[in-house]
Amino acid sequence: MAGLRAAISLAETGQVLVLSKDSIRESSSQYAQGGIAVALSDDDDVELHEHDTLIAGDGLCNREAVEALVAEGPAAIQQLIDWGTEFDKEGNKLAFGREGAHSRSRILHSQGDSTGRELVRSLYRRAASLPNIRFESFAAVTDLLLEDGEVAGALAFDSERNVLISIRASAVLLATGGLGRVYLETTNPDVATGDGVAMSWRAGAVISDLEFVQFHPTALHLAGAPRFLLSEALRGAGAYLRNRAGDRFMLGKHDMAELAPRDVVSRNIVHEILRTGDEHVFLDLTHLTGIPEHFPRIYQTCLHYGLDLTREPAPVHPAAHYAMGGVKTDLHARTTLPRLYAAGEVACTGVHGANRLASNSLLEAVVFGARAGEAMREHAVRPVVVNPQPPAGAFPQISEIELRRMAWRQAGLVRDSAGLSQMIHDLEAVPQVDLPDPERTDYEVRNIHPVALLIARCGLARQESRGGHYRTDFPAKRTEFEKHSTVSQSKPVEFE
Ligand SMILES: Cc1cc2nc3c(=O)[nH]c(=O)nc-3n(C[C@H](O)[C@H](O)[C@H](O)COP(=O)(O)OP(=O)(O)OC[C@H]3O[C@@H](n4cnc5c(N)ncnc54)[C@H](O)[C@@H]3O)c2cc1C
Repeated sequence: MAGLRAAISLAETGQVLVLSKDSIRESSSQYAQGGIAVALSDDDDVELHEHDTLIAGDGLCNREAVEALVAEGPAAIQQLIDWGTEFDKEGNKLAFGREGAHSRSRILHSQGDSTGRELVRSLYRRAASLPNIRFESFAAVTDLLLEDGEVAGALAFDSERNVLISIRASAVLLATGGLGRVYLETTNPDVATGDGVAMSWRAGAVISDLEFVQFHPTALHLAGAPRFLLSEALRGAGAYLRNRAGDRFMLGKHDMAELAPRDVVSRNIVHEILRTGDEHVFLDLTHLTGIPEHFPRIYQTCLHYGLDLTREPAPVHPAAHYAMGGVKTDLHARTTLPRLYAAGEVACTGVHGANRLASNSLLEAVVFGARAGEAMREHAVRPVVVNPQPPAGAFPQISEIELRRMAWRQAGLVRDSAGLSQMIHDLEAVPQVDLPDPERTDYEVRNIHPVALLIARCGLARQESRGGHYRTDFPAKRTEFEKHSTVSQSKPVEFE
C-alpha cells in the first residue's frame, strides 16, 4: 500500500518503476483484516485519535509524526473513497467499528474482514491507470546501488529468468513492508523478510527502534495451515481463550481478561503453553452466533483447513506480527542516506513508538506513502551517474529455519541478557561466503541474518521493558530509556 500510494503521487512528476518481489498483490496489506483507523465519525476527533496512539506507544511516539498521521487521515481516506475504495456502510453512512485501546468507534472495514484486499485493489487500479507507472513483478531487490555516498538505483533478482538486473534511479523508495519472517511463528506473508532494513543497513542508513516487535496473540496453529490471523475482533465479539482443560486462563491475569493489551495476552499464552506442556491454547467461539456472517474470510479460511469455528475451538499460538522500528526517516520519508526514502512498515517515523495502536498501520501506509511520493519529486531530474556499486555483502552459512528458531527463542516475546548475548555471539560467528548462483531464498537469508542480529543488539541495549519489548531481567520501564535506539554499520546501538 505504501509503495502504490507513493507511486500515485510521484507519477505526476516523472517515470516510476514499481518492483515487487512476488506478484504485486502478495503483501501484508493484502491480508490485513481488522481495518483502518481514522477519526471521521461524528463523535470522534483527531485529538482523541492522537491521544490513543500516544498511549499505545508507551512514551516513545514521535508526536509530530502522530499529529501528521491523525490530521491527514480523514482527507487521505476521502481520497481513497474518491478513487473507488468501498468501505462497509450502515445505510448510506460509513460504518465505524470499535477496537481495543481506541476510545471511539473509528475503524473502517471492507467486506467485514477483507479491508486490506479492497485497499490494495483500489490503489493498484488507480496506479495502473497512470501512464508514468510501470510494474515489474517477481523482481526482488537485493541491494541498493551507491555513487559518492548517494543512492543511485538498485539491483534486483529476476526470479523468472534467474538473473540480476541493475536499475538506475534518481531516487529510491523502500516500501518493503515488515520483517515477521525473521521469526519462526509469524502472521506475515513469505515476502516479509526485512529486506528493506537489511539492504539499507548494508548501504549505511540508520535503523531505529528495531527491538520493538509486536506479537499477535492469536494466530491459527494447525498442522499444514499457514499462521493465519484470528483477528482481535473475535475476542472483541466475545471469544474466550481456554487451555486444553477448558479453563479460561486469562481470568485473574488482567482486569480485561481476553481483551487485555496484545503483549499481555501473548505473554500469558506463552506462559500457559510452557506450564501445560501443550503446543498451543484455544480460541473458543462456539458460544457465539453470527460468526460466518460477521467474519466471512476467517470462517471460510478455517473451514478450508477442516476447522468449523462454530463447532470447535481453534488452536492458537502467538506470532510475530508487526515491526514498530525500521529504517529511520523524517516526516517526509527521507532516510539518513541521500536519495533514499522509506514508507510503510519498513520505515521508522516514530509514529508507533514502542507499540502500535491496532489499525493505525494501514493509515500510516497511506498517509506516509503519499508524503514520500510528494517529497521524492525533489529528485525529478536524473543525476549523471558514472558507475554505481552495491555495498559488499556475502552470504551467511546458516539456514532460514535455524535463524527463525533462534530469533523466536531468544529475541521473541520474552527476552533476557543471557539469551540475547548468546544469540549475538552465535550470529556473529556465522561464516560468510560468496555463492556462485544465489537464488531468491539465499538473498532472503542474507537479509534475515542481519535483521535478527540488529533486533538482538537493540534488544540487549534496551535494559527495560516497554511496549513490545519485554525483558525478564529488567521487567519495568526506566526513564533513562525513554529514547529511540539507533544503529548503523558505522556505529553501535545508541539512544537518542
Ligand atoms: C495478517 C495481517 C493482518 C493485518 N491486519 C491489519 C489491520 O487490520 N489493520 C492495520 O492497520 N494493519 C494490519 N496489519 C499490518 C499492515 O497490514 C501492514 O503493516 C501494512 O499493510 C504494511 O504495508 P506496506 O505497504 O508497508 O507493506 P506490504 O503491504 O507488506 O508491502 C510490501 C511489498 O514490498 C514487497 N517487497 C518486499 N521485499 C522486497 C524486495 N526485496 N524487492 C521487491 N519487493 C519487495 C512485497 O512483496 C510487498 O509487495 C496486518 C498485517 C498482517 C500480516
